[in-house]
Amino acid sequence: MSDTGAGVVLLGGGVVGLTTALLLRHRGMAVTLVERARAGTEASWAGAGMLPPGRAVQSESAESRLRSFSFECWPKLNELLWRLTSEDNGYRECGSILLADTPGEAAAEAMRWQRDGVAAEALEGADLRRRIPQLKTKWSAATWLPEFAQVRNPWHLRVLQSACLKAGVMILEQAGEAVLEQHAGRITAVRLSDRTLVPTAVCLTSGAWTGMILERFGITIPIRPIRGQMVLLQTQPGWLPHVVESGRRYLVPREDGLILVGSTEEDAGFCRSTTVSGVRGLLEFACDLSPELQSAPVVKTWAGLRPGTPDGLPFLGLVTGFENLFAGAGHFRSGLQMSAGTAEILCELILTGRSPLNLSGLAFDRFVVADMRGPSCER
Ligand SMILES: Cc1cc2nc3c(=O)[nH]c(=O)nc-3n(C[C@H](O)[C@H](O)[C@H](O)COP(=O)(O)OP(=O)(O)OC[C@H]3O[C@@H](n4cnc5c(N)ncnc54)[C@H](O)[C@@H]3O)c2cc1C
Repeated sequence: MSDTGAGVVLLGGGVVGLTTALLLRHRGMAVTLVERARAGTEASWAGAGMLPPGRAVQSESAESRLRSFSFECWPKLNELLWRLTSEDNGYRECGSILLADTPGEAAAEAMRWQRDGVAAEALEGADLRRRIPQLKTKWSAATWLPEFAQVRNPWHLRVLQSACLKAGVMILEQAGEAVLEQHAGRITAVRLSDRTLVPTAVCLTSGAWTGMILERFGITIPIRPIRGQMVLLQTQPGWLPHVVESGRRYLVPREDGLILVGSTEEDAGFCRSTTVSGVRGLLEFACDLSPELQSAPVVKTWAGLRPGTPDGLPFLGLVTGFENLFAGAGHFRSGLQMSAGTAEILCELILTGRSPLNLSGLAFDRFVVADMRGPSCER
């Protein structure tokens, strides 16, 4: 069976693929989303849903530009989702406390955020304890970000999928491995086990698996899975009012008292298991922040595979050497936050060939001439 009305074909139904599919369809395109397994069950489901703020769309740094652009896109996306589904995706402005070792560190961190146009305040001693009374007293300095938001991953994915279906996106799940056929720099067909799609354009939104798809064309891009483990605890609703972060670890409270404790960063290939040392480390971290958590029930543990890149930033735009093959993949630790902006950018690129944001630092070929000592995923 050959489907010539497939329109734009997206490969991958995580948060990036679903959001891009929705925006393209909303702009009048025919859209087919092909998902190898089940949509919304990989990294996008596993994440904590933290959405750091940003207001520096003109920044020198690609990270700050995309974070800021995305932050500004979220309200519009939420409005569209609500209009289509009337379902809650758990988006809340909850504020975040970034713990610091010294007051000087907290002040410097606050200034860094303020330079990005974000409200930020350094807190010490009693002020910090007023915000988070549960914290162990050894923590005496932090930066307070009142605009920091969160979304509830499983809810957001469910709402996105429901909005896509209502808007008329064709979602093909359990599709197995798609085979892309090319001729003279164009993808001419997407072969699935039961049909062939004839696309106007193809967009790879395949997270940690994107490199494997491109390898078939002899293109190497350094995206690899970086495992993140997570522990879910139950506390009383409202017990922890804000996100608390210490380095790369954090507590993210949901309204019903659930608390996500995250996360590890491990190079374990495509293995999604949790481990004794991973879970133990997260529990020790949580109890070190607040000994009260020692009696909290453990609800669940899981792990997800972040799409890691050497600089922690996604590949965004046209794939080098192609006219109609795009990609939005490699968002590492920030794919939920950056999904709203990424989808706007991909949508505009596919429809008009122009990006609403300066994409330098996110281009496809940025590692081709770079020193490839191997991805460290540090930034
Ligand atoms: C523990 C953890 C905590 C995190 N916390 C946060 C956070 O607080 N804030 C934040 O912004 N980000 C966070 N992240 C990062 C974020 O989850 C990811 O960057 C984001 O989900 C990537 O989205 P994606 O759609 O690119 O990938 P995925 O969600 O992995 O989706 C990719 C999809 O593509 C499909 N696929 C793969 N190959 C093919 C193929 N050949 N054909 C068809 N389909 C294919 C897969 O099955 C999958 O469904 C976290 C991640 C983890 C693991």
